[in-house]
Amino acid sequence: MECRPQCGACCIAPSITSPIPGMPEGKPAGVPCVQLDEDLRCRLFGKPERPAFCGGLQPNLEMCGERQAHALQWLGDLEKATLPATQHIR
Ligand code: SF4
Ligand code: SF4
Repeated sequence: MECRPQCGACCIAPSITSPIPGMPEGKPAGVPCVQLDEDLRCRLFGKPERPAFCGGLQPNLEMCGERQAHALQWLGDLEKATLPATQHIR
């Protein structure tokens, strides 16, 4: 499947622990990446500065669903399910 225009859910919902240009500590879950442009596309696409994590997320129907709200929910649930045990206490 193709990445949906004007979505950006997978650049908002997940946490990214590696540095991103403009976000040296990485990105907290639920915070839009600073590299998203006004069309919710990645400014770093195809560049070596793009975190490896991002290239590992490929569009697929289970994650992306029919609309952004589905993808935000799905990725948010995944984020909670994969948090290290110590972070569940917060
Ligand atoms: S969740 Fe899917 S459709 Fe939305 S930006 Fe990511 S890959 Fe594209
Ligand atoms: S670097 Fe690009 S692909 Fe990765 S989260 Fe940011 S906008 Fe999305």
